[in-house]
Amino acid sequence: MKPKERMAIERQHPDELDVAYRITNFEEVTAGFDEETAVREANRCLQCKKPTCRKGCPLNNRIPEFISLLRDGKLEEAYWVVRDKNSLPAVCSRVCPQEFQCEGSCVRGKKGDPVAIGMLERYIVDWMVANGKDLSRVCALPKNKKVAIVGSGPAGMTVAYYLAHEGYHCTIFESLPIDGGMLTVGIPAYRLPREIVEAEFDALKSCGVTVKNNVTVGKDISIEQLQEEYDAIFHAVGAHDSRKLGIEGEDLDGVLHGVDYLRRVNLGENLNLGKNIVVVGGGNVAIDVARTALRTGSDKVFILYRRTKAEMPASKAEIDHLEEEGVKIEMLAAPIKIHGENGKLTKIECLRMKLGECDTSGRCRPVVIEGSNFMIDADAIIPAISQNVNHIMDKGIDFELTSWGTYVVDPVTMQTSKDGIFTAGDSVLGPQTVAKAAYQAKVAAESIKRYLEGTDMKEGREVRDLL
Ligand SMILES: Cc1cc2nc3c(=O)[nH]c(=O)nc-3n(C[C@H](O)[C@H](O)[C@H](O)COP(=O)(O)OP(=O)(O)OC[C@H]3O[C@@H](n4cnc5c(N)ncnc54)[C@H](O)[C@@H]3O)c2cc1C
Ligand code: SF4
Repeated sequence: MKPKERMAIERQHPDELDVAYRITNFEEVTAGFDEETAVREANRCLQCKKPTCRKGCPLNNRIPEFISLLRDGKLEEAYWVVRDKNSLPAVCSRVCPQEFQCEGSCVRGKKGDPVAIGMLERYIVDWMVANGKDLSRVCALPKNKKVAIVGSGPAGMTVAYYLAHEGYHCTIFESLPIDGGMLTVGIPAYRLPREIVEAEFDALKSCGVTVKNNVTVGKDISIEQLQEEYDAIFHAVGAHDSRKLGIEGEDLDGVLHGVDYLRRVNLGENLNLGKNIVVVGGGNVAIDVARTALRTGSDKVFILYRRTKAEMPASKAEIDHLEEEGVKIEMLAAPIKIHGENGKLTKIECLRMKLGECDTSGRCRPVVIEGSNFMIDADAIIPAISQNVNHIMDKGIDFELTSWGTYVVDPVTMQTSKDGIFTAGDSVLGPQTVAKAAYQAKVAAESIKRYLEGTDMKEGREVRDLL
């Protein structure tokens, strides 16, 4: 096929569940491509000599290679090319914010739609599963070294994946009763079916990884105890403390915070907050909260955002899904006080905003319009305006921290300020993405291996700086 012919093919779109049906349940909204659609989409790829899409992917996935193999029908080979860089392809292909990562750097996006890289990666993985192919790598013979991993999110999973396959004994300590971190207590199942995460844990366990649930490090066991028992420690506790709005009335009944709300729903609590729900924030968490509230019985949900839709940090695809499902975005507005009666929220007082000065990236500052106060009746308000790292784990150890409360690390090794203790993911970057957590964790796994073998942790390494 000539480049001109490839350029003439339009981006393919996946099937999605009907809106009226999908808001009644947590079934996966977006279907995968079928073979014909996947090959047609793959044919849009120009196989650039210098593929910029790879730079956009935090994992530096071998994108043109796996797309070329898909085109040739060599799906098993394509899978192993994907797996070479990505410890969690079934997850990343579904949830990566591709428009800001791989697809955002695809040259085809300059004059039209980028190649649907995530959907192609997903097609390859789903094809392997549907065709009963073996997805597991050979596990090396056990070595006499033990690694403690704190946190079972994508960073913990990735370190366990690489080290267990090298023969190191890995034990994951997880404070929650379920595994997967934000993959299972944050991201809703309609975007990431739970069987996918469970399959990853089955694979880890078959390679000797042990998971100890309901154990909070810093409370049930200390880091010092882990140091005595294990040869190295990797911790990836994520960023699970919701940031507060800091306004009057935030302690009233009916105020819940974004990731706390999602965690409770995901852990199976039957939480119907009433009919009228106001969600505050413009990121993916706010959107997940709003769409989850719809699915748990609230029928008037809207998002309050202090800038305009153009400035929302959430993915465009997520904003489109949100609006299709009937959630309205009240732009240029911010809450200033939560009013209540008898300890229960009744109204939210807000101010109108306008856009002021813009920074070099073009993002404009919201400025208050004085005297523009207005009230909204609500049964619940859910601020979802970012998260901080929780430090219960640190008890007894004074890790060096940044002013944001994230862990300071050596960017080449991911070692913290303490010898033999490594970290990665949201606890280093603040709330970020699965692919970034997986990349940093892969770097940490290589360092831990060298640490355990007593070799130079830095020699010959080129590491992407995501900090
Ligand atoms: C609602 C929501 C939607 C998101 N959507 C996307 C998306 O679409 N795409 C994307 O790429 N990213 C998304 N993210 C971000 C992504 O989930 C995170 O960047 C990623 O999970 C970080 O991985 P992690 O391993 O660093 O931490 P986490 O996934 O947060 O895992 C940390 C784990 O450590 C455990 N833990 C914490 N403290 C202790 C302790 N003291 N002892 C034992 N265990 C402990 C926690 O319970 C948790 O299981 C989303 C996040 C949220 C909240
Ligand atoms: S891992 Fe994520 S960013 Fe990288 S190619 Fe796959 S979907 Fe794109």
